[in-house]
Amino acid sequence: MWKYRRKLSWLYWLWMTTRIKHLYLHVPFCRTICYYCDFCHRVYSEDLSQRWLERVREEIENNCFDQYETIYIGGGTPTALSNGQLDSLLSYIDPYTKEVKEYTIEVNPESLDEEKIRIFKKHKIDRISMGIQSSNDKILQSINRRHTFKDVKEKIALLRSYGFDNISGDLMYSLPGQDMKILEQTIDDILSLDLEHISLYSLTVEENSVFGKKGIMSLDEDIEADMYELIERKLTENDYIHYEVSNYAKPGKESKHNLSYWNYEDFLGISLGAASKIGNNRYTNTRDFGRYFSSEDIRDENLYLEKEDLEFEHIMMSLRTIYGLDINAFNKMYDCDLLSKYKEGVNDENIVVENGHLICKNLEILNHILLKFML
Ligand code: SF4
Repeated sequence: MWKYRRKLSWLYWLWMTTRIKHLYLHVPFCRTICYYCDFCHRVYSEDLSQRWLERVREEIENNCFDQYETIYIGGGTPTALSNGQLDSLLSYIDPYTKEVKEYTIEVNPESLDEEKIRIFKKHKIDRISMGIQSSNDKILQSINRRHTFKDVKEKIALLRSYGFDNISGDLMYSLPGQDMKILEQTIDDILSLDLEHISLYSLTVEENSVFGKKGIMSLDEDIEADMYELIERKLTENDYIHYEVSNYAKPGKESKHNLSYWNYEDFLGISLGAASKIGNNRYTNTRDFGRYFSSEDIRDENLYLEKEDLEFEHIMMSLRTIYGLDINAFNKMYDCDLLSKYKEGVNDENIVVENGHLICKNLEILNHILLKFML
């Protein structure tokens, strides 16, 4: 039965011609919902998560055919699952981890415990991404985070004691009630954790989030820009490399999984709301639990991109990092001459060619520069 289904699978057919090296799996549950968030998630319940676990197992068996170089378990909150569920989920992925070079899981401090850390070790997870957001407990409370900064410090120490040497922390800025002084203290507190990687998120008020429904506004754009500059200055002064618009890393600790997105490689997304990119195709899984449980066809959006759309997306993604776009590889892939075809963008004063790569020297205004690459 399974074999028969696999032969019919659209992904199986694509797999015959494409090797996918990167896997993303979305866990759609959180223990509580943060007020700024409108990701694909539900408040955890044992019954629903158990049904999801059975369905996700089926999806993995039907669609995973490769040995992946990077695997990323995100959410939602993967640590919202019970210990037994987490162990089961990771065991479904085990057969595809023989060549893994980076295996990340997202965690929240309040739902991470020693048993979960042991489960991570058992299944070869070697990178942790922790939702920290702020070190100010009042701010954390005001966005409905259920941890304190003390919890963060304790859980980082626990992870270190189990040998985790690649930990990333999420930091939010432009939050209501956050001024420059509070932000500066948060940056100092996060620096004291000596993390290998830091990801930045500025608050965007989404319509469907609790903040959106309450009419909470984002901070003024000028304040947001000042905050971005403060973070940039303090992190780079402390030996972090600003390697992507919103990401900083200690040397050699850049996220390999996220670099695959920015290098425009193919990836497979599993579970509700997860996106995939395979060749010219993009698709996004349904966010609807009912459809996810009852239907074989769980793709909501299915886009086929023409050559010039692919070229633009490739440029847009690659210019996000300080490593830029490999010009020869691009020319070969699309059978074109990048420097002449996109000369208006290439001639922008913030764009340079270094060691065969096209690089943006002012990531803060990248979106503005990209307009010049639109044909
Ligand atoms: S920010 Fe993370 S933990 Fe909070 S509701 Fe969104 S997905 Fe869940």
